[in-house]
Amino acid sequence: MTVRRLRLVLGDQLDPQAPALAGFDPALDRALMIEAAGEATHVWSHKARIALFLAAMRHYADALRGRGVPLTYVALDQPEPASLGDRLRAVLAEDQPEALVVAEPGEVRVLEDIRRACAAAGVALEIVPDRHFLVSREEFARWAAGKRELRMESFYRHLRRKTGVLMRDGEPDGGAWNYDAENRKGYGRGGPGEIPAPAAFAPDAITREVLALVERRFPDHPGRLDAFRWPVTREQGLDALARFVDARLAQFGPWQDAMWTDTPFGWHSLLSPALNLKLISPREVIEAALAAARERRLPIASVEGFVRQVLGWREFMRGVYWLDMPGLAEANHFGHRRALPAWYWSADTQMNCMRQAVGQTLALGYAHHIQRLMVTGIFGLLAEVEPRQVSDWYLAVYVDAVEWVELPNTAGMALYANGGRFTSKPYVASGAYVNRMSNYCQGCRYRPDRRTGADACPFTTLYWNFLDRHEDAFAANPRTSLMARNVARMDREERTAIRRQAETLLDRIDAA
Ligand code: FAD
Ligand code: SF4
Repeated sequence: MTVRRLRLVLGDQLDPQAPALAGFDPALDRALMIEAAGEATHVWSHKARIALFLAAMRHYADALRGRGVPLTYVALDQPEPASLGDRLRAVLAEDQPEALVVAEPGEVRVLEDIRRACAAAGVALEIVPDRHFLVSREEFARWAAGKRELRMESFYRHLRRKTGVLMRDGEPDGGAWNYDAENRKGYGRGGPGEIPAPAAFAPDAITREVLALVERRFPDHPGRLDAFRWPVTREQGLDALARFVDARLAQFGPWQDAMWTDTPFGWHSLLSPALNLKLISPREVIEAALAAARERRLPIASVEGFVRQVLGWREFMRGVYWLDMPGLAEANHFGHRRALPAWYWSADTQMNCMRQAVGQTLALGYAHHIQRLMVTGIFGLLAEVEPRQVSDWYLAVYVDAVEWVELPNTAGMALYANGGRFTSKPYVASGAYVNRMSNYCQGCRYRPDRRTGADACPFTTLYWNFLDRHEDAFAANPRTSLMARNVARMDREERTAIRRQAETLLDRIDAA
């Protein structure tokens, strides 16, 4: 049969209204989905991340078949080639369609692979806009045009005005644009107390088959599958959303920065996997939060704090990614060259905060934002790790990791690798921050208040070392000049002792 348009649906484009399928003509068109081992190995992916994509793709394919959509499904276990691009090329050579239609991929590398495959097969490529996002790449570029520094806050206010979300008579609902000051609480001595459990989905037969396949094909990959709990269908994604909004949204705001031992999820939504695979849309997530806020008069600080993440940060990061690639992937403002500590892959470290954050990451494929930013992220910066190695780790180990959102967060926010293009200062903190926001330090062999000596906290030593090394730059920035003054107050001996301690620590970081 002659195929007019082959319509490729990628593993993170599982919207039932997928733009690649718009205008589908069953008599002439064919849908195409491709599982490729190369997508699991180009970074050393967590088993749960591989399983999530495959399970969701297989459920989606079943739904397409149920709708009578003609589908070519290239399964992982089909013989070589292994890479997505090569597999696509083989299908194009076989089917010889007039055109391949695909929605904008979420990663430059994938886009280039698809372009190359089409060029090699002599097939026209039609890239259609990804309507999942509220802001198109073009609109973001227009907003950013002429701005040297991009600030999420100003983009977010622009979007609030444009969409009317949380606005009343042209002013922000509740009278303020943000409630950050109320949204930074630690749990306090008593700990988090009872937190209603987030939705979890027991694997069905399709998912169980995928879990077995992943164990078989990728046995030495990081992470575990025994706690696999993620939504793999749109219905499950919607269920997760409803249960978050019902039971957890009200308390999301105040505790969103708090961390506690054996409390991997806190009050967070866990919606990023369903959102990033496009099982659910940001519009319906925001709508659900706003509807609950109206019906149940939820605290504005929690509702705004949550909406800011989805409407603000998520859209902003996607815009920045496409604006600043490919340079963002190579950015290395501080010229850091050290290797990622080996225990990022094992959690085998004496630093309790890292053991907790990395440990739950390996167990679940999940850590919440502050664990990613202020624990594993900042440590990568303070330990002078080459940004690419850090961002490859983030892309590998989280179930929600897709490059358009992972890379700007890692290179831009956590590592300041792009020199402050969208953050006004590097996020750095000592063990005092971890101690304030968690109980991790209580179970640690190090002491957060010590910067030198045998029990000095590595975070604290490296924080002061970092300030010492970058004192001039910190002094020149009004947002960090206070930090520079603190380091300037230290005497020469103290500074020398910190430098020595930091050197020794960095040289033996795998033993920390
Ligand atoms: P919640 O805290 O409940 O937030 C609600 C939603 O808001 C999230 O589901 C997410 O869609 C969105 N959101 C929140 N913060 C951000 C943010 N900073 N950027 C973009 N969207 C945001 N998020 C990913 O989706 N994929 C990644 O690969 C990823 N990598 C990250 C790497 C680093 C170094 C850092 C600091 C952050 C990263 N984030 C990433 C952002 C954020 O940590 C996760 O979105 C969040 O932890 C997901 O958990 P949740 O769904 O419970 O989020
Ligand atoms: Fe982390 Fe330092 Fe606290 Fe230990 S003392 S948990 S290393 S911040």
